[in-house]
Amino acid sequence: MKFISTRGKSKVDYAATAIAKGLADDGGLFVPENFPKITFDDLTKMIDMDYAERACFVLHNYLEEYDYQELLDACKNSYAKFEDGDGAPLVKIDDKTFIIELFHGPTLAFKDVALTLLPYLLRKGCDLSGIKEEVLILVATSGDTGKAALEGFKDAKGIKVMVFFPSEGVSDMQKMQMTTQEGQNVNVVAVKGNFDDCQTAVKKIFTSKEIASDLLKKNIVLSSANSMNFGRLAPQITYYFSAYADLLASNEIKLGDKVNFVVPTGNFGNILAGYYAKQMGLPIDKLVCASNSNNVLTEFFVSGTYDANREFFKTVSPSMDILISSNLERLVFELSNRDFELTERRMAELKSQGKYSLTAQEKSKLDSEFFADYADEEECLQTIGEVFDEYGYVLDTHTAVAYDTAMKFIDYTNNDNTVVILSTASPYKFAHDVLRAINGRAPEDAFKCANMLYEQTATPIPNQILELKTKERRFTKVINKNDTVNAVMEFVD
Ligand SMILES: *Cc1c(COP(=O)(O)O)cnc(C)c1O
Repeated sequence: MKFISTRGKSKVDYAATAIAKGLADDGGLFVPENFPKITFDDLTKMIDMDYAERACFVLHNYLEEYDYQELLDACKNSYAKFEDGDGAPLVKIDDKTFIIELFHGPTLAFKDVALTLLPYLLRKGCDLSGIKEEVLILVATSGDTGKAALEGFKDAKGIKVMVFFPSEGVSDMQKMQMTTQEGQNVNVVAVKGNFDDCQTAVKKIFTSKEIASDLLKKNIVLSSANSMNFGRLAPQITYYFSAYADLLASNEIKLGDKVNFVVPTGNFGNILAGYYAKQMGLPIDKLVCASNSNNVLTEFFVSGTYDANREFFKTVSPSMDILISSNLERLVFELSNRDFELTERRMAELKSQGKYSLTAQEKSKLDSEFFADYADEEECLQTIGEVFDEYGYVLDTHTAVAYDTAMKFIDYTNNDNTVVILSTASPYKFAHDVLRAINGRAPEDAFKCANMLYEQTATPIPNQILELKTKERRFTKVINKNDTVNAVMEFVD
């Protein structure tokens, strides 16, 4: 399948090349030339498949040049790293409300669903596209992508990974997870600033011809593990289908019934994968975009104007503390009926003025597919407490934002389709705030919080958390946001 850039000046013949390159040469994002269709017959077939088989079945529609059996083996390998080999187990809350738990992978966040598979997709993508250089993957992270990428790519041959995270913008557990990372090919640097600063710095490096040519002299090409890379996005499409197949399997819905998905959103990658699933034919009614106090997306969905000129808040759901959601470009591109010039102009406006607006027509299209709302800090913590009291279920802070938004969605719209909430992280990654929500207060020490959370909820502490206590801290560097290029050059020298 061919992939085109949202800005119209770059096109590649295969998904493999789009994945190997990460970002299009014109600064745009790669999108599939068309959306392959999955039929009701296919959905029925998926009922009896395990998660890895479902993943391969969905992915191969885009990754046609990848050998099916080899891709299947890679999927099996990836999802064997998840508890019970399931990338997205479905949990029933009540007759109409379900949660898919996407956090049972190696680093306890939904990013693992894609980042356990991306190393294969990328290495194979380079082979299939004749890229022979060493690949340097640059990652800007709001906390979870960084760790998942480090773990996914550690000691991968011919690949180096460098992660930038906001020095004060991640949870203690997230920071420990990244700074204790093992592997000879990895580097982790804290940046003084927020996630947007990290992402902007990385994007700048990606689009600099000068840096590209300096790196090429060292036989290095850049790629990305952020959801700007189609290889990150594609595996995320699977769990929308998988949740639907599981609902069918347990007779919770009938084939063709519409389902709503509620997604705690930051960079708009996760929910965009849901939009792609819908374009492929999955019976989705509304996609619900849930934000925290950094509710630039809520305002966009309500007003049709994206305006990043606003105060940035550090919240208890740090992985969603983002004001410039990169993947929105892909949605806006679709809303405009794939108008390259308009998309490019809007992205230029976003860069120069921090804002752009949709047309009335685009806005009404948006309204028919999405609902958006947000949960502030208090609502988030209150939801964690209430859901635990009522169902004995422990939500992490990000999933709690989605849960609260799901309840608002049902209240405001009276939409009575089945609701599936995407749970994006283990509560133990955010033990301090989750404990505070359930207990009223919490000690400073993250491990103490984890132990107390276990005592209160009997939800087992994942090993990945327990291990952190004794791991050596390898990365301690903190830099200014203007020094990212130097840091990259130092790393590759
Ligand atoms: C990354 C992340 C999100 C946001 O997902 P996007 O794809 O960036 O919208 C939400 N919750 C958690 C726990 C995350 O790690």
